[in-house]
Amino acid sequence: MSKVIIVTGASRGIGRNIAYNLAVNGYTVIANYNNSEIEAIKLQNELKEQGIEIDIFKGNVSKSQEARKLINYTIEKYGRIDVLINNAGIAQEKLFTDITEEDFDKMMKTNLYSVFYTTQEAVKYMLRDHNGSIINISSIYALTGGACEVHYSMAKAGIDGMTKSLAKELGPSNIRVNSIAPGAIDTDMNKGLSEEDWKEVIKETPLGRKGYPIDITRCVKWLVEDEFTTGQVISPNGGLVII
Ligand code: NAP
Repeated sequence: MSKVIIVTGASRGIGRNIAYNLAVNGYTVIANYNNSEIEAIKLQNELKEQGIEIDIFKGNVSKSQEARKLINYTIEKYGRIDVLINNAGIAQEKLFTDITEEDFDKMMKTNLYSVFYTTQEAVKYMLRDHNGSIINISSIYALTGGACEVHYSMAKAGIDGMTKSLAKELGPSNIRVNSIAPGAIDTDMNKGLSEEDWKEVIKETPLGRKGYPIDITRCVKWLVEDEFTTGQVISPNGGLVII
């Protein structure tokens, strides 16, 4: 069997593009979604028309039980997990002083705790198999900070902290852990950006264009096959952020 790969939040945007392309490239993909059932079924049907299978699994990864269920479903059906891609996420733009406890709680549970839940469960089986790769989708805001997105930036910085620590702990067990920190990518998450806003972003970007989900997928595809990269935060961002 080809590599077994879980992609969380694969019904839309970056996750969908990752899941679609990995399936087209012959990997066994389990595409998780939460609310967007119609989009997830559409993804499955689009691939079916080309004779390609993809597994879709509904689950809210911000809830420990549902996140662990996604992992256990995969193990029961396929026997192992080669790659876990923690992509599911939400964004919220608010002044720091306006962020409610409820906002903060939702942000942390969706963008950070979910990564802990899925990874902790998956690592049990990766340790058993002495093999595995975890790819966390972080953000440039973890590197630079983002005004009016403090809670989002905190969650993403938490992911990068986990990536580096876990890479050290799990390296001797042949498990790699990396973060991909996208720049501004054209998805629903950025639908609040006006044409003028995009123009500003593009002006600040040395490569002179916005990012598309495929730009992140290319990086994911490389990491899926790479065997000597761990603990890194890789940032496909067109040069918008150079550290
Ligand atoms: P998007 O278009 O809004 O899609 C978000 C995806 O996450 C959807 O498939 C959604 O599924 C899923 N999701 C959200 N909450 C979930 C939950 N509790 N359980 C399971 N799935 C959940 O966003 P995107 O731009 O593709 O973002 C994907 C990742 O990249 C996020 O982690 C985001 O923070 C990161 N990122 C994006 C950008 C950017 O510019 N777009 C930049 C840096 C980082 P349902 O619709 O089915 O609920």
